[in-house]
Amino acid sequence: MSELKNVVLKNIVKTYLGNDGKPFTAVNNINLEIKSGEFVTLLGPSGCGKTTTLRMIAGFEIPTSGDIYIGKENVSKLTPDKRDTAMVFQSYALFPHLNIFDNVAYGLKLKKLSKDVIDKKVRKILELVGLNGLEERAPNQLSGGQQQRVALARALVMEPSVLLFDEPLSNLDAKLRVYMRTEIRRIQKEVGITSVYVTHDQAEAMSMSDRIIIMNKGVIEQIGTPKEIYEKPATKFVADFIGEANILEAEIVDIADKRVNIKLADKIFSVKTDLNVGKEDKINIVIRPEAVNLVDNGDIEVNVKSSVFMGAYQDYVIELDNKEIKLVQYDPQHKKVYNTGEKAYIDLKANSIHVIRN
Ligand code: ATP
Repeated sequence: MSELKNVVLKNIVKTYLGNDGKPFTAVNNINLEIKSGEFVTLLGPSGCGKTTTLRMIAGFEIPTSGDIYIGKENVSKLTPDKRDTAMVFQSYALFPHLNIFDNVAYGLKLKKLSKDVIDKKVRKILELVGLNGLEERAPNQLSGGQQQRVALARALVMEPSVLLFDEPLSNLDAKLRVYMRTEIRRIQKEVGITSVYVTHDQAEAMSMSDRIIIMNKGVIEQIGTPKEIYEKPATKFVADFIGEANILEAEIVDIADKRVNIKLADKIFSVKTDLNVGKEDKINIVIRPEAVNLVDNGDIEVNVKSSVFMGAYQDYVIELDNKEIKLVQYDPQHKKVYNTGEKAYIDLKANSIHVIRN
């Protein structure tokens, strides 16, 4: 395999000419570093600029301004074939008239490597992606998952320093998608290749990534590990986009070192925070639905506005301080279930509350 390289994006802007003839900024001043060997996912809603960012790393789009480095080299103006990258597409993009072996060997033949070397490299990669024995098959004789493995093999066999994935699992059925997440991650770890993956599926991003880059309207909202992004969302957008969240306005009572005391349901909670907030600042708090327990006794009484059995969990909406809050209680078979219209109490701990700016 070739040398491991990092990818650095510096002040990247991409402006397109919109249908109305006015410029439209799809990517607005992005800065980030993807470390060597890291698996990073660009995640965000449709139109947030993730594909454009990926295509700029590949060289299919040229930034309007800013620079892209792969390793030490500034590749901003290089064509895709001059960059040390390979892309795996959603559509597989296999050659229908070539068998699996020849599909994977295609790029190596263009490089005019000897037959022996090609043979060795292709067989090694087919083994890595679990396709040995299928060399003679045509693409249409393979399942979707197998075709995506061929696409991955074809990218890997070129020994790029950076592997780029553009929603590669979107065409597969739900079960296969879940299986292929683990497979792609296994193969990526085995090769140790720096990878940038685009998806709008948060489960995919959470389960595969070392770090996730959350994008919204052309800017980066947050970069962090899946755990950081879920537990410490930096903005309202991230809190709302990743999983379910109750986002409430809260009043700051006072501030101590790395803590804010906030008032909620007439109780004071001392909440740890890295935010540098002043007493007059407006803040929001984030409470995840599974982070609060419904109990028989306590000091915060709530009304159960709705209670729905979902199998693995019971879905509740409760009323607290005239606000509706979503709760999820797992394993309802072995827990007390509160019915719609009942009163209950909540067991809310300060460490289940996360503070963000308003
Ligand atoms: P999706 O998940 O829907 O693919 P995305 O986050 O990948 O979304 P991009 O494809 O990067 O989003 O597009 C970002 C914005 O730029 C969108 O508003 C899109 O319409 C616009 N855009 C992308 N390519 C072009 C183009 N070639 N010409 C004009 N506008 C474009």
